[in-house]
Amino acid sequence: MKFERELEKYAELVIKTGVNLKAGEALILGGNEAALPLCRKIVEKAYAAGAKHVEFQYSDDQMAIARYEHGHDFVFESFPQWKIEAMEAMYKDNYHQVFVSAPDPELLKDIDGELIAKAQKTASQAVAPIMHYRMTGHTKWSIVAVPSEAWAKSVFPELPLEEAIDQLWVKIFEATRVDQDNPVEAWEEHDKSLKKYKDYFNEKDFEKLVYKAPGTDLEVYLADGHHWMGGSKASQAGPKFVANIPTEEVFTTPHCLKVNGTLKATKPLSLNGKLIDNFGFTFKDGQVVDFYAEKGYDVLEKLLANDEGAKYLGEVALVPDDSPISNTGILFNNTLFDENASCHFALGRAYSYAMNGGDKASQEELTQRGANFSLIHVDFMVGGPELEITAYEKDGTEVKIFEKGNWAF
Ligand code: ZN
Ligand code: ZN
Repeated sequence: MKFERELEKYAELVIKTGVNLKAGEALILGGNEAALPLCRKIVEKAYAAGAKHVEFQYSDDQMAIARYEHGHDFVFESFPQWKIEAMEAMYKDNYHQVFVSAPDPELLKDIDGELIAKAQKTASQAVAPIMHYRMTGHTKWSIVAVPSEAWAKSVFPELPLEEAIDQLWVKIFEATRVDQDNPVEAWEEHDKSLKKYKDYFNEKDFEKLVYKAPGTDLEVYLADGHHWMGGSKASQAGPKFVANIPTEEVFTTPHCLKVNGTLKATKPLSLNGKLIDNFGFTFKDGQVVDFYAEKGYDVLEKLLANDEGAKYLGEVALVPDDSPISNTGILFNNTLFDENASCHFALGRAYSYAMNGGDKASQEELTQRGANFSLIHVDFMVGGPELEITAYEKDGTEVKIFEKGNWAF
């Protein structure tokens, strides 16, 4: 059966390319009910690769709702410490991690937003002391996604449920290169290509990028000592891993105070289940000083008012218009996919690892070098067949890097 074969290839891609699990290592695997068919295949592939143990962590959507609906206040104010200790013990014992996401975009729509924020804050404070295992590459990790009923419905509202799920699988297989004969090899090639651009940009150390497209005429200086990222990362022990499947972007940190001009988004932005469409910004000295939106104006207004940093850019990412995700021709309503379909920017926080020495630098130093700080990081798409991007070296030399929406070289 074709689907079974594709699922098998997907699981193999996760183990070999995503987390790159080696014989003698162990795996922490997380997923919900909709993720089970892929998770079972991943367990097979993990043991076949020589895993010493697979620890499966089940999360149930309905149980999560039950906790929110019936949990007393104190439930959201503390986090089981033994869980943190167990995770740390596993990280130290050569466990690596895979998350299979099968998101329901509206799962928490009836839950009080403040309660969710409180629970998330408690959880992120609890896991903060063990985040460095993944962030520094001690632990290899990978995130992949499979359809949930709710997600499939949101992408294909006009189709009967079964067909919508089948269609979303097909699109996910295309976007992740699982539909190709040998996805692991296809990713080797793809990773090489991303590395080629990343290395080129790091070597050139461009001063600024200028974007031109209908509704867009924008000058973006890059942060001092910015670092371009893309594709796989090396783990501390050496073997590389791919933290997001799919990933198509080469990205770095803009100088948050040196962005000027107009910028028009080319795809709608789905934010907390609400859609913002036909929108754009005017930037002056990095700050959004004006904006418009045909749909979702108030959602965008709220987003920009989150904190001071929400009005400034924190990421600039290059993705060719001709890429497997963009070629699926659909909007996935999911950041893992949509942000990899198109050139994008993010409003809000910059990634410290997209700055030279960023893992050791203080936030103050990073801010001084132009890396934006905020509690939000929201990507929006600006790519399309008409986008032209020119890069400028420090001596003023121009290099055309994007032409008609694709790499110019
Ligand atoms: Zn990005
Ligand atoms: Zn981003």
